[in-house]
Amino acid sequence: MLIRRGTRLDGAVLDVRVGAQISQVGKDLTPLPGEEVYDLAGGTVIPGLHDHHVHLRSAAAAETSLPVGPPQVRDRDALAGALATAQPGDDGWIRAIGYHDSVAGPLDRTTLDALAPAVPVRIQHRSGVLWILNSAGLARVGLADHPDGRLRSADSDWSGALERRDLGLADVGRRLSSYGVTGITDATPDLDVGDIVQLTELHRHGELRQRLHFLSPGKRILHDDNLDLDELAHWIAERHRCGGPVAIHCVTAAQLLVTIAALQQAGAHPRDRIEHAADTPSDCLDDLVDLGVTVVTQPNFVAERGDQYLAEIPAGEHHQLWRVASLLLAGVPVALSTDMPFGHADPWAAMRAAVHRITASGAVLGADECIPERRALMMFLGWPEHPTRVRTVEPGQPGDLCLLTAPPEAALAELDADLVAATIIGGEIVYAAG
Ligand SMILES: [Zn+2]
Repeated sequence: MLIRRGTRLDGAVLDVRVGAQISQVGKDLTPLPGEEVYDLAGGTVIPGLHDHHVHLRSAAAAETSLPVGPPQVRDRDALAGALATAQPGDDGWIRAIGYHDSVAGPLDRTTLDALAPAVPVRIQHRSGVLWILNSAGLARVGLADHPDGRLRSADSDWSGALERRDLGLADVGRRLSSYGVTGITDATPDLDVGDIVQLTELHRHGELRQRLHFLSPGKRILHDDNLDLDELAHWIAERHRCGGPVAIHCVTAAQLLVTIAALQQAGAHPRDRIEHAADTPSDCLDDLVDLGVTVVTQPNFVAERGDQYLAEIPAGEHHQLWRVASLLLAGVPVALSTDMPFGHADPWAAMRAAVHRITASGAVLGADECIPERRALMMFLGWPEHPTRVRTVEPGQPGDLCLLTAPPEAALAELDADLVAATIIGGEIVYAAG
């Protein structure tokens, strides 16, 4: 197809011919016989956005799950009420998500038995790494004798016993298309080959149009209560020996310190990644630069959870949270992402959060970490395997584009998903506004 009068981020107003790849870019290209023409009338043409860290299955499941954390559920009574009125799914489970300890403290099977009806219930902690099951749920997965019902997400012993709900990824894909997202990196650590094949088939059959990239099996989640430096270094070295990079989930400062030490011990691969880096002490910056490891982070959590951080985390540590500008200034490669569904899936909201760092109540968290609008946008335009290498609108680049109604300066001033006029994947329009 031919896109007429698109303005690139460099200000050039050009026509773009696009199929599987961009084949031609120039002034006043003549439409070929029968070629579809889209007149952008000076609006912006950029490469399609790539969200570098999402969880597809969880995103689909979230569509049919009960939210049991702030802002929908804020206290114990509200939690009990939500569980009492919830309808179990076809698989018999009440599946609840987004739990935070501020609602009713740390949950275990006993507290859940007292709160919830006697059908199988599983509640996912907001962090995504922990599930709490009630006794009926534990019996269902063959763990009736489990001491507290607190199970880790990445542990396939129990999750393998769950029937997979219908994926229902079409809705997720449509929503992403409306944001101009043409590719996603699934960061789920426990995907097996079967999962990857299934998701790839959905893409092939067009149910999910976005291009897919997977971090599994090189993705690891760490837990503060058993950080084993030597084991982690060994695992990293083993992955590198097989030719693959690693992606390590670092939410706390302790996890980041151990990961840095393990990478120093094992040696770094040029495509190694640290996911989140939610809490980065200043003295880690030089080490990250030396390792050359890419940080894939989510400033949207500043907007989504900032008020909670301000209330719960000592003021002296606020500057360490969800850093972006100081990482870039030090020379750390950084890309952005949303962590959908744990973070909101709109990458434009994540960009605005990176630019303004304003919380829901209007406070600013980490003003020194704000980055310019253009930079924030570019950090969603990387290649799946090289998140900080930015794609461009030039011949030979992938035929995945995001078209915006406004020219670059106006679009950058707003950074809003409402600006997306159309989304193109492989030369085909997969979303058109209105
Ligand atoms: Zn994640």
